Amino acid sequence: MMQARKIIVRGIVQGVGFRPFVYRLAKQYGLKGTVSNNAHGVEIEVEGDHVSMQSFIRSITHASPPLAFIDEIETKESSYKGYLDFAIQASNGSEDRFTLIAPDVAVCDDCLQELFDPADRRYRYPFINCTNCGPRFTIIQDIPYDRPNTTMSVFPMCTDCEREYNDPENRRFHAQPNACPVCGPSLTLCDSKQNKIQSDNILDRTAQLIKAGSIVALKGLGGYHLACDATNDEAVSKLRERKRRIEKPFAVMIPDRNWLERICTPTQEEISFIRSINHPIVLIRRKDNSPICSDVAPGNNYIGVMLPYPPLHHIVMREVAIPLVMTSGNISEEPIAYKDDEAFERLAAIADYFLVHNRDIHMRCDDSVGAVLNKRHTMLRRSRGYVPYPVKLNIHAQKNTLATGGHLKNTFCFIKNDFAFFSHHIGDLENYETLRSFTQGIEHFKNLFSITPEILAYDMHPEYLSTKYALESEIPVKIPVQHHHAHIVSCMAENDLNEAVIGVSFDGTGYGTDGNIWGGEFMITTMGDFKRIAHFEYFPLPGGEQAVKEPWRTGVALLNQVFGNEYKNVDIPFVRSIQTKSALAVIEKMIQQKLNTPVTSAAGRLFDGIAAICDVRASINYEAQAAIEFQMIANETVTGRYNYEIDTKSIPWRIKWNGIVRDILKDLQNNVPVSDISGKFHNTIAMIITDISEKIKKDTGLHDVVISGGVFQNALLVDKTVDYISKQGMKVYTHARVPPNDGGLSLGQAVVAMHKVL
Ligand SMILES: [Zn+2]
Ligand SMILES: [Zn+2]
Ligand SMILES: [Zn+2]
Repeated sequence: MMQARKIIVRGIVQGVGFRPFVYRLAKQYGLKGTVSNNAHGVEIEVEGDHVSMQSFIRSITHASPPLAFIDEIETKESSYKGYLDFAIQASNGSEDRFTLIAPDVAVCDDCLQELFDPADRRYRYPFINCTNCGPRFTIIQDIPYDRPNTTMSVFPMCTDCEREYNDPENRRFHAQPNACPVCGPSLTLCDSKQNKIQSDNILDRTAQLIKAGSIVALKGLGGYHLACDATNDEAVSKLRERKRRIEKPFAVMIPDRNWLERICTPTQEEISFIRSINHPIVLIRRKDNSPICSDVAPGNNYIGVMLPYPPLHHIVMREVAIPLVMTSGNISEEPIAYKDDEAFERLAAIADYFLVHNRDIHMRCDDSVGAVLNKRHTMLRRSRGYVPYPVKLNIHAQKNTLATGGHLKNTFCFIKNDFAFFSHHIGDLENYETLRSFTQGIEHFKNLFSITPEILAYDMHPEYLSTKYALESEIPVKIPVQHHHAHIVSCMAENDLNEAVIGVSFDGTGYGTDGNIWGGEFMITTMGDFKRIAHFEYFPLPGGEQAVKEPWRTGVALLNQVFGNEYKNVDIPFVRSIQTKSALAVIEKMIQQKLNTPVTSAAGRLFDGIAAICDVRASINYEAQAAIEFQMIANETVTGRYNYEIDTKSIPWRIKWNGIVRDILKDLQNNVPVSDISGKFHNTIAMIITDISEKIKKDTGLHDVVISGGVFQNALLVDKTVDYISKQGMKVYTHARVPPNDGGLSLGQAVVAMHKVL
């Protein structure tokens, strides 16, 4: 008895070799019919006997291709048409176009094998790819994902490539970026004035230039990198100077896995993270005496390491055979350059040479950065290799939502159905270029996922450009979301938590509902609402933003708060050193008269101020530098703690940190090493979190603790917090797929807004 079925597969099923997989499966079971891409995913019409049909349907889920992600399979009866064969049909881009798209992934092992096989027709061809690997998100201009809708449309395939493309048995069947040296993109090497460098072997030549100390701009998957020899002090400092990037760590690309142990001490979790198909930059403890220049990540025990991911990197890395600094092609905090013209314009003063190619990048996408926190692969910057994979929500949105994110490390986020599409890393919304990247990105996502947002969520901070964008938008329903509420909900959403939790959000800055700067917050949190239960006692930030850049100001404010005018009699190196600062008198006046001096409860600022008092760092060159360096010097085995009090007379409770400052001064005067002081300070903060969580648990019965915010990128603090709280029989939830910092904010905003309109 012949049966006919119509099967619709939803998920990431386009551009990942799904149709040929279905084709081969149908052939294997002797079934007839068709498979095609449509606006919803993949549609299969299939005819055959009952038993084969059942096996076929089972295998669709169990044996799907590596990049595929099946969200749902719908099977219904269909009328028997008497197909004679099984065929793959062309896509039809129609009606409500909504389909998921795969991210750009690292070259697969099969392609890598061919890349270095002298007998292969793609030997050392830097654009080799197949349906299991290669560019996706960065080359798609429109959906459905077919070659004419990508930046590969300008390269007509040669007959060999076309044969592969049309052969369902071939690994390159419908591999949209399929190409070879005959028909595909090609490389050009130029100097910074765009003069072509003639060479029989451009890649060898590039490697020689890098080894000779040059800085080369390399066009990659999602934009330009600036590359130089990471073992050459002169080259690294030249790059710092030209890029105007002082002290902020550079990422390093290593030629192969064997180099990992030569420059750092990876754990098993870190090794599996760095080798995952997404190939992020992973922060790993660096080794002493490694050949990497100390100036690559000054004052940091960790180094950001990545493996080569596109074939171009593989060839270059084989040739140079040394680790390279591989940093975003931009000046300081601008977005990464990705168009050739702008790259030459913006990077000419930095790079000595340019290795470019003629496959356009449609969407810029920075490298992703991750670290192992609480034993989980945790994203710190979620971008290339992950975007636009959605985060699946356990609730179905009635209305499409857009959230505009925060100010620093901006991402935006759309919610449609039960998917949250949160964007690639946009950057700090502080210049025109980044703002343009933000608005273009939003338009691109709207088009790719056919989303017309009806609800708009944004941060409460009136001065954020993301807020201003939101207020000017024509989207009818606009919902402001408190910064730390968004942080906690972003972590709840990725951990599938729906019920009220004890939310702990520690970061550097976030606009509070009382107009003060929050950032050391304990909140009973639900998806749609929060109640502020406790926070660090407010302290002044003389000069606001200026205090963020100059933590010594915060140090003065903390001491002033504890000792009043007597603070200058405290005999520690910090107090001696600030006496010489001409701004000191002004700052004292600002504090006393509350001039341009907001107050804050931010844990990040407390770290800053304490780091300054301990003479670790007076002013910073990149975000959170003082707090990071204070963490880096910590003696992690020290067990002591400092005294604090929790004033519970009224809600919100206030965490009084005066005792901490007093104890630290005693330690400083007794010549306790700063590394021990840092260790004890970390213990104290973890204990405060535990203590307050327990108190809330006692009052409310809640026992799930959710920690989020930029301070929880601090691995030492996360590990200690999880350790202490777990011992009290409570469960701690941390981030993994969503960054704990402001890069994850947009997801939280979108989910909060969605619940507020329910
Ligand atoms: Zn491949
Ligand atoms: Zn070809
Ligand atoms: Zn934040």
